[in-house]
Amino acid sequence: TTVDAGDEAPTDTHCPYCALQCGMALTPAGGTVDVAPRSFPANGGGLCQKGWTSASLLDSPARLTTPLVRTGGELHPATWDDALDVIAARLTALQAEHGHDAVAVFGGGGLTNEKAYLLGKFARVALGTAQIDYNGRFCMSSAAAAGKAAFGADRGMPFPMTDLADADVIVLVGSNPAETMPPFLQHLQGAAARGGLVVVDPRRTPTAEQANVHLAPAPGTDLALALGVLHATVAEGLLDGTYVAGRTAGFDEMWRTVARYWPEHVERITGVSAADQRALAHRLAGARGAYVLTARGAEQHATGVDTVSAWINVALAHGLPGRAGSGYGCLTGQGNGQGGREHGQKADQLPGYRALADPAAREHVAGVWGVDPDSLPAPGRSAYELLDALGEPDGPKAMLVFGSNVAVSAPRSQRVADRLGALDFLVTADVVLSETAAMADVVLPVTQWAEEDGTMTNLEGRVLLRRKAIDPPDEVRSDLDVLAGLAERLGQPAGRFPADPEAIFTELRAASAGGVADYSGVTYERLRDGEALHWPVPATDHPGTPRLFLDAFAHDDGRARFVAVDHTGPAEPPDAEFPLQATTGRVLQHYQSGAQTRAVPELAGAVPEAHIEVHPDTAARAGLGAGDRATVESRRGAVTAPVRCVASMRPDVVFVPFHFPGGQRANLITNPALDPTSRMPEFKVCAARIVPAADV
Ligand code: SF4
Repeated sequence: TTVDAGDEAPTDTHCPYCALQCGMALTPAGGTVDVAPRSFPANGGGLCQKGWTSASLLDSPARLTTPLVRTGGELHPATWDDALDVIAARLTALQAEHGHDAVAVFGGGGLTNEKAYLLGKFARVALGTAQIDYNGRFCMSSAAAAGKAAFGADRGMPFPMTDLADADVIVLVGSNPAETMPPFLQHLQGAAARGGLVVVDPRRTPTAEQANVHLAPAPGTDLALALGVLHATVAEGLLDGTYVAGRTAGFDEMWRTVARYWPEHVERITGVSAADQRALAHRLAGARGAYVLTARGAEQHATGVDTVSAWINVALAHGLPGRAGSGYGCLTGQGNGQGGREHGQKADQLPGYRALADPAAREHVAGVWGVDPDSLPAPGRSAYELLDALGEPDGPKAMLVFGSNVAVSAPRSQRVADRLGALDFLVTADVVLSETAAMADVVLPVTQWAEEDGTMTNLEGRVLLRRKAIDPPDEVRSDLDVLAGLAERLGQPAGRFPADPEAIFTELRAASAGGVADYSGVTYERLRDGEALHWPVPATDHPGTPRLFLDAFAHDDGRARFVAVDHTGPAEPPDAEFPLQATTGRVLQHYQSGAQTRAVPELAGAVPEAHIEVHPDTAARAGLGAGDRATVESRRGAVTAPVRCVASMRPDVVFVPFHFPGGQRANLITNPALDPTSRMPEFKVCAARIVPAADV
């Protein structure tokens, strides 16, 4: 049972799910809350189905309400003391036998800033392990790396999203907000009304349906399409030469590669006509205000960084970034996709978006933490590499997972499940018994968004305060309490790991001071007062920075960089054995691995299982019709689901949503080929074939 906090006035807060962080107001109602939409710039008073139904997980029968410890092969209820004692004893023993890196930590892009911060500190100070990374590696790391290379700093949208309303042209590359974050569509309506909403996506998604122009390149060729548009921009005399000369560097080197990508050549690679490429170049050049926005479709490739760089090059050629009313931005996916990558749960980063390998950054953060900088580990493995090494002779023997369901969400998921199974000890902190939690030795039930305070940073770099509206169930604790309790048992001094979110945020502010993502001027008090604080906020009287780069980019010389990139195509091209290309994505009703939304009756009822989208001709050639159960096979595995025939699909593509477990895990087939810079796996394309399910 839950206990109401006693305050019947609505509590202003934000949605538990995606990066839009829609404003909502919660009123306690029995053991749960009533959700009402709240006017906030991101959502303008709207919520999607996921937000409207988010309260049902608070008192759901699926909710974990007591710690569980595995004995005799089964999970059994345990006290918190017993569960934390078991964890501390096993971790200590494994580290004594195998060294500090025997214990890994895996975080999530949905954790609050305070949790992400404390998790990074816990791994590096209390455990002394280098083996920490998080699921944001799977969704944002390519755009982050490309943004940093081009602009010297990475903030998803370096402008308020409400700026989009006045644009003539918005180019969405690999983004489907009509299903992932529907209220965001309101910001695109102005461009759509002016005939300038362009969607680049191999599928005719609900977003593409609403676009004025839909360009459907073959999966894995978005980079080539950008090169074609760039070529047309230069060849047709549309380059913003004044901007390029005054605010950028690297154009000549970039052009040496692009010069051979004339639109007819690119048409043969992508399937997008040369005329459409030239038309897009003219559209961007003729716009009063224009934006290029990329998302997972561009990023989740073994060439994801280069693909985003190519689209940033297009934006730079038209003089968009750092100009009021125009720009380039990346649409973050997870609730705290932006903040989650700034505070130190990433393998190579320290708080303030600092590099772990930077001696000055180590010195600063170690000073805040009260430890010797030399005691901080070096950067460890990236997310997939970490999962791939679990239980191997030189890999981690134990892992703590916070806010992630890697058994479903990681690529090549049977391999990942096998590696999880090879661990000596697995701990998860979660809200429901996710597929990963079901494999764990200890499962810790943790609080949800309506039961705790904490900050999030949305996709435009605005820091938001989520507020507690009700008490959690009696035996449920915050992840912060978990880390504080474990740190104490691991011998950390009293007070080094506080559990109070505001106290942790105060420490985070000091750790971030002077960094790229400087939160030192953000306080809970300012957030409670409703101030719109976009980082950097270097002082408590600083108004925040809604628009970055207006005067200069963050590189030392103030110039943005064109980055020379070339098209190479998917890591696994189709062949005679696997002639199709499989791609994955989301549906409106579900979020990420679906662990939460599959437990919401309205959402699970609307979309209870996966499906396979395929062109009717492709289905017919495989002897399949609508509703038949089919299997999509790749070199790594097979996923089985009912067929949905979609006439707008490219005949060479099959699509599977990735929210479902068991034999419907889309990631059974995905390719873990990694981008060499971001270490992002190639979720978005692999060679595949489709057969009737009975044939397998
Ligand atoms: Fe929540 Fe995102 Fe839906 Fe808004 S769009 S209600 S933040 S899931």
